[in-house]
Amino acid sequence: MEKKELLYEGKGKKIFLTDNDNFLIAEFKDELTAFDATKKGFEKGKGALNCQISSELFELLEKNGIPTHFVKKLSDNEMLIKKADMIAIEVVVRNIATGSLTKRLGIPEGKKLPFALVEFYYKNDELHDPLINDEHALILELAKDEAELEELKRLGREINVILKSFFDKRDLILVDFKVEFGRDKEGKIILADEISPDSCRFWDKKTGEKLDKDRFRQDLGNVKVAYEEVLRRIVE
Ligand code: UDP
Repeated sequence: MEKKELLYEGKGKKIFLTDNDNFLIAEFKDELTAFDATKKGFEKGKGALNCQISSELFELLEKNGIPTHFVKKLSDNEMLIKKADMIAIEVVVRNIATGSLTKRLGIPEGKKLPFALVEFYYKNDELHDPLINDEHALILELAKDEAELEELKRLGREINVILKSFFDKRDLILVDFKVEFGRDKEGKIILADEISPDSCRFWDKKTGEKLDKDRFRQDLGNVKVAYEEVLRRIVE
């Protein structure tokens, strides 16, 4: 498959057209951003780590019945993906309270939630990705109907069940994560974007150490070392 012109550049990836209309190439970047991209950083090799971690996790999810846009890994930092019509909703699933949930609602940091909480955020940089409910999503025409929103929630919960148990066996607590979905050619909802320490929070089960983008957000250092450790536990 031949890589053609740049279609879109996001904060963590560049998306390129290919000579086949059904496929795109995602190139993972070494740049790191946080807090609405007001904080910027660079970590050489981070793109390759996220590409490999995402590839492994997409394969794991596919094996467990979750449809994804993943086709294959092409190089250290490139992935062949199916073209999808992206849904402008960030689906966040939480097992433990931290981050914006703690700030917004005062739920104590580190509190185990009684069930997996699914939230929708409107993917819109100008509006700073606000939290929305189902009715907002329908009024904004982000989803076709209530059934499509239910499908996003179902997939989010299912992905959580699969990943939580996978990481638990590797002594990592899956605290929370964000996923994005698109519609394939047939209109079927498929998991897209990436699943990596940029979009998930992982805490070491024994030490509580943070092994994700919070190391960058909170200036904890050793960002790349943490991402390497997550990859090591995935492939071991
Ligand atoms: N997240 C993400 N992209 C975003 C916002 C959040 O990948 O634009 C992920 C984040 O890494 C965490 C989860 O979604 O795993 C919940 O993030 P939260 O709402 O607590 O936001 P934050 O505290 O990072 O602002």
